Amino acid sequence: MQGVGLMGGTFDPIHLGHLVTAEAARAAFDLERVIFVPAGMPPHKTGQLVTQSKHRHLMAVLATVTNPGFEVSRFEVDRPGPSYTIDTVRHFRSEIGPDRPLYFITGADAVLELGTWHDLDGILAYADIIAATRPGYALEQRAGHLTECQRAHLKVLEVPALAISSSDIRRRVAIGAPIKYLVPEPVEYYIARNHLYQPVAQPVER
Ligand code: ATP
Ligand code: MG
Repeated sequence: MQGVGLMGGTFDPIHLGHLVTAEAARAAFDLERVIFVPAGMPPHKTGQLVTQSKHRHLMAVLATVTNPGFEVSRFEVDRPGPSYTIDTVRHFRSEIGPDRPLYFITGADAVLELGTWHDLDGILAYADIIAATRPGYALEQRAGHLTECQRAHLKVLEVPALAISSSDIRRRVAIGAPIKYLVPEPVEYYIARNHLYQPVAQPVER
């Protein structure tokens, strides 16, 4: 029975690191599909300005449209308030039924934060976690704070290293540096067309 992968994230914007990771997980775990779930109001990013979810969702659709094994869900963006992974994983578990494998795919940096996730044991009752290697983040060290039982639900996945991050892409756009080949071309055009990630004009003192 083929499994389903969930790729959660802010996707501000989606980039090739996300896509390579999702595709590597799909192939390695023989997943029927990977569902990208852009966060509505990410609980851990409330202190930062996050681009409107309509833009982040649309960029995820543009980026995934050429892969029949990829889908984008509106589940979190349509929910008011902060999204918790436990709610998302419970929702998709009930969609696919109790028997099919369900995986939540994350990068190595997110593994360190796992201990802070709301109801981690609840999440692990519904889904295993695929932890993808990410340049600059040592995975083994990062799983040290998890219990043995929690670690049993953690599947490590080697992905071709791509040191790409959304924060770096936002910074590049803001200073006029190229993002070509870091994001899919339609996403590059979408960002330009909608003037996303432009530096905020500082008020001039007179
Ligand atoms: P930001 O810099 O704004 O935090 P990000 O690039 O980390 O953005 P997120 O939307 O925060 O992107 O990440 C969504 C998921 O994708 C997380 O689990 C993250 O660890 C993973 N991820 C992001 N970039 C990569 C990458 N280059 N390689 C592997 N995994 C990645
Ligand atoms: Mg991140």
